[in-house]
Amino acid sequence: TMKAILDTGYDYSWFVLTKSIIEKEFALSGSEQNPDITEKSLRTAARSRLAKGMPGPVEAFTKHGVDFVVRDNLADLVAGMNELGRGGHIDLQSLERTISARDSQVDNAYSKDAQLMAVHNARNYLGDKIVRVAKPHRLLDPAHGPLIAVRLNILTRKTLGGLETNLDSQVMRPDGSAFDGLYAAGEVAGFGGGGVHGYNALEGTFLGGCIFSGRAAGRAVARQG
Ligand SMILES: Cc1cc2nc3c(=O)[nH]c(=O)nc-3n(C[C@H](O)[C@H](O)[C@H](O)COP(=O)(O)OP(=O)(O)OC[C@H]3O[C@@H](n4cnc5c(N)ncnc54)[C@H](O)[C@@H]3O)c2cc1C
Repeated sequence: TMKAILDTGYDYSWFVLTKSIIEKEFALSGSEQNPDITEKSLRTAARSRLAKGMPGPVEAFTKHGVDFVVRDNLADLVAGMNELGRGGHIDLQSLERTISARDSQVDNAYSKDAQLMAVHNARNYLGDKIVRVAKPHRLLDPAHGPLIAVRLNILTRKTLGGLETNLDSQVMRPDGSAFDGLYAAGEVAGFGGGGVHGYNALEGTFLGGCIFSGRAAGRAVARQG
């Protein structure tokens, strides 16, 4: 995806969705950003996750987010997107064609549209059906509006490391010998993705490796007294 986006010559892309989708599918990464979790109230959590409407923090993004465009129809949406764009021009007819092609597959139970197949597949799991994946609908159906476009900026969220370490988390010199007294753990040593998990590390598997390599370093230092 990253390569396809950057090959366009621009460092951002657009995500087009509806109010029905954002209500169910957008959440803020990090529990501290989600009041329903930080308040530790099952009732609040159930209300905000199961009820209709957007969670408060998500709604605040649609109103105040600098990368959000919310409009009642596609022509206005595209005008808003082009106001925000950093170079590059979204062509209304072209976007309409793309969305209509996708929408035409919504009522087809045997559709081979990869995105819709993934949506149907996700909804086979009851948990995702209830709290995470909106019922397939036409994006241009006003009943599910308004339309929303989100500018997705590319940023670096984590590093695959750089310092080579041995089993004691000791940093290795280029000649393969251990760098006395220097230890590295976590992302910088390739334990937050990369390293143990490979280049396409699965989301959510980073902290474990970071803590594990920190423990190895701590134990090695303790052994030395
Ligand atoms: C938004 C986000 C969500 C994530 N969600 C998950 C998740 O759900 N599950 C998961 O497993 N992983 C997740 N990760 C990845 C995981 O959080 C990180 O890989 C992990 O926290 C890295 O730990 P670390 O100790 O290696 O580095 P860090 O936690 O980055 O610690 C490095 C520390 O060094 C300090 N520092 C930097 N320079 C200096 C200096 N010159 N002097 C002194 N101190 C300095 C920094 O302030 C920082 O405190 C997420 C990462 C991000 C950014």
